[in-house]
Amino acid sequence: MVDVSQLPVVDIHAHPFLNPGPLTPEQFVDLTAFGGGSPEYMEQGGVDVTSEVVEELQRVKRETVYFKRLVLDLAAFFDVEPTVEAVVGARNAAIESGYTDYVRRLYADAGITSIVFDFGIPLPILDIGEVSGQLPIDVVPIYRIEPLIADLLKTDLGWDEFSRAYDDAISDALTNDGYRGVKSIIAYRTGLDVSPLSRTKDQGLLALDAIRRGLGGGSMKKLRDHLICRAMELCMDHDVPMQIHTGMGDFEVNLVMCRPSYLMDLLRFPTFRGCRVILVHTGYPYHREAAYIANVLPRVYVEVSEGIPFASTAAWDIYDGVLAMAPVNKICYGSDGYKTPEIIYSSAKLGKQALADTLNLHVERRMMTAPDAQSAAAAILAGNSSELYRIG
Ligand SMILES: [Zn+2]
Repeated sequence: MVDVSQLPVVDIHAHPFLNPGPLTPEQFVDLTAFGGGSPEYMEQGGVDVTSEVVEELQRVKRETVYFKRLVLDLAAFFDVEPTVEAVVGARNAAIESGYTDYVRRLYADAGITSIVFDFGIPLPILDIGEVSGQLPIDVVPIYRIEPLIADLLKTDLGWDEFSRAYDDAISDALTNDGYRGVKSIIAYRTGLDVSPLSRTKDQGLLALDAIRRGLGGGSMKKLRDHLICRAMELCMDHDVPMQIHTGMGDFEVNLVMCRPSYLMDLLRFPTFRGCRVILVHTGYPYHREAAYIANVLPRVYVEVSEGIPFASTAAWDIYDGVLAMAPVNKICYGSDGYKTPEIIYSSAKLGKQALADTLNLHVERRMMTAPDAQSAAAAILAGNSSELYRIG
């Protein structure tokens, strides 16, 4: 039997947060729920945010299987009743007697040792030192290109300066500011159908010129496509991995244009074959597609975050679907936790349980040996990510 209880966990995908302090049950629900469903969202739709509407939004969040599982995990940790009120009371008391110490006990219980944080959310960017000062684990920051692009578009820089400032900011982040990799969420903006020919400088010049002259059309897509190509080239120069968002996200994602398959032309183009690319969320619900790509393209990896934990029972299906084709050494565990330490904790518990079950089934079906399954668990939970980000 695969034993994951003592295995360390490297979470390859989360967003940084500072001590949120004591919370009401309602605040806790809002902070730990999957993205979307805010009062502002309803307001923008012309809905009066009455107390009934606030209650309706709370119900939507509390009634997901993901949330029920989160409450169960925390209830077991604190040894209290599995109710929102009981676990929030217990975590508030724990935080009051020392936040960092609370997170230390919480993360030790799940074996979490390192977390790769995308500092592109929340904005303004949190201070890396302050975040790592509060967290009793190894903090590995990665740099998101979209806030940089937004900042540069606010300037009146011409193409040469724009392009140089873009390169310099990324190189500087990787060389001097402690960032250990790059990330793009282009799927949220203009989609994953990026032509590898976008890498030519002239495409950037053409697109920025059109944007500056107020021409719409496809110029923004052309610019973003060029800039993601450039980011991948910089990743190769600095020998760091590139994370690309694929699959589901918050309600703003383009769920049609986020299929990993759209990336194939870019990923297999000779110029980019040397780049280590991690397909974020393993493209869930298109995870089988991402696993296929990780099989046929040697430097493409997948990470299982967000599907685990937010798609709750899909955790088993995700591991099963991904293991069908992705090489074991290219599957990484992640959570996509944010805002509070508890999502990351519950995700690691679920991630370990589903992985152990899936690998045990593989042994039972004679798809691999028991020692193979045990070392696969260690690799997926920590080893592969440690290698990619040179942790430990
Ligand atoms: Zn994320």
